[in-house]
Amino acid sequence: MSNITEPTGYSHEDARFHELDAKALEKMRAQLDAKRKAAASAEAKSAHWLRCPKCGAEMKEQAFENVAIDQCQSCKGVFFDSGELELLLSHSKARAGLLGRLFNR
Ligand SMILES: [Zn+2]
Repeated sequence: MSNITEPTGYSHEDARFHELDAKALEKMRAQLDAKRKAAASAEAKSAHWLRCPKCGAEMKEQAFENVAIDQCQSCKGVFFDSGELELLLSHSKARAGLLGRLFNR
């Protein structure tokens, strides 16, 4: 049950200030949420950046056939960034075609 009554002298001006306070609080809430989200994202990235998804060891970026690959220094697993595998496959197909032409003369 609510027994809240307006304090005596509560004017439209007070109501306006209350509304402005609510908007300012809402804005501050949104800014804090955005900051917290960005911090969590940065923390997750630093914890996982160039870490092997299988064993957690450090991965090193290397060039292989003009394609950048990330190879784990521990288990030797390989990770391709988006598009790199397709690039490697297209190189391989081109080379297979070239070798095919070379040997089928
Ligand atoms: Zn590994």
